[in-house]
Amino acid sequence: MSTINEKVRCLIIGSGPAGYTAAIYASRANLAPVLYEGIQPGGQLTTTTEVENFPGYPEGVTGPQLMEDLKKQAERFGADIRMGIATAADLSASPYKITIDGEKTIETETLIICTGATAKYLGLADEAKYAGMGVSACATCDGFFYRKKRVAVVGGGDTACEEALYLAGLAKQVYLIVRKPYLRASKVMQERVFHTPNIEVLFEHNTVGLFGENGVEGAHLVKRLGEPDEEKVDIAIDGFFLAIGHKPNSDIFKPWLETDEVGYIKTLDGTPRTKIPGVFAAGDVADPQYRQAITAAASGCKAAIEAERFLLH
Ligand SMILES: Cc1cc2nc3c(=O)[nH]c(=O)nc-3n(C[C@H](O)[C@H](O)[C@H](O)COP(=O)(O)OP(=O)(O)OC[C@H]3O[C@@H](n4cnc5c(N)ncnc54)[C@H](O)[C@@H]3O)c2cc1C
Repeated sequence: MSTINEKVRCLIIGSGPAGYTAAIYASRANLAPVLYEGIQPGGQLTTTTEVENFPGYPEGVTGPQLMEDLKKQAERFGADIRMGIATAADLSASPYKITIDGEKTIETETLIICTGATAKYLGLADEAKYAGMGVSACATCDGFFYRKKRVAVVGGGDTACEEALYLAGLAKQVYLIVRKPYLRASKVMQERVFHTPNIEVLFEHNTVGLFGENGVEGAHLVKRLGEPDEEKVDIAIDGFFLAIGHKPNSDIFKPWLETDEVGYIKTLDGTPRTKIPGVFAAGDVADPQYRQAITAAASGCKAAIEAERFLLH
């Protein structure tokens, strides 16, 4: 760590719905928060078009517009929003030290970590080609757009089964594409999937590409890839959902904070409190369950209220 360049009362890392909401509450509570936006200013929602489930927008709103609105709202109350990436953390003692861009070290009395979680993709060029045009990593977010259509879900764990079941309630046909000859999901989830008439499980299938003129119209699959009897299979679909996990952006905090086996920061008793007093985690980085803009915003709010109360004592 370099020498201390600045001392603040409340430092917020990340500019998704959790970070900006924490900034709104912390600035209105006179904590003079400083927020670093990271590599993706505005967070995950800047990569999507329509957001139809964030309360307060009866006609929906685009992701970038929603994030711009949240940023403006935080700035209106004096939040100091800056470009920069947190590259190292020392949470061994209060005040906590965060290095920005490997250069500048900030000392803070309270820290709100809102660094999000990144969905994993298969790594196909077609996933990027059809981003926002049929490819999604969130059934709760985008399933509604596929009512009475055909979709595929990739993955074999509990999340993939949950996403397939959710989509089965909306779509006409759901394919669950599973690489292995079995599901990793719990027995209960497997039973639910097998007993849902409009879900077809495609075991031992790999996706190798997507096709379509103006968006996804189908997927190229290979059954028993690499085996002597491998077989090419094309399926007609309108939506392609990834459910192969997320990577929480928690690496620099792992030496200090407890995380689960995937890397989600563990918080106490349903609050954003971590085991270190004055250090809070909000939004997707601490939420393996819901991962929605509204839940992220809500936990950012809670974290700022917690920070304010912590500073009172
Ligand atoms: C394509 C897509 C569509 C979606 N659609 C919807 C939807 O319709 N409705 C809905 O409710 N949810 C939707 N979601 C989910 C929603 O975007 C997330 O739940 C929400 O953005 C999580 O907010 P967050 O504040 O936790 O973090 P994120 O939005 O993930 O933001 C994380 C922030 O942390 C920053 N960061 C990361 N590491 C560092 C670091 N080291 N230093 C500084 N900053 C850092 C990043 O730059 C980013 O600003 C969608 C997600 C995707 C990907």
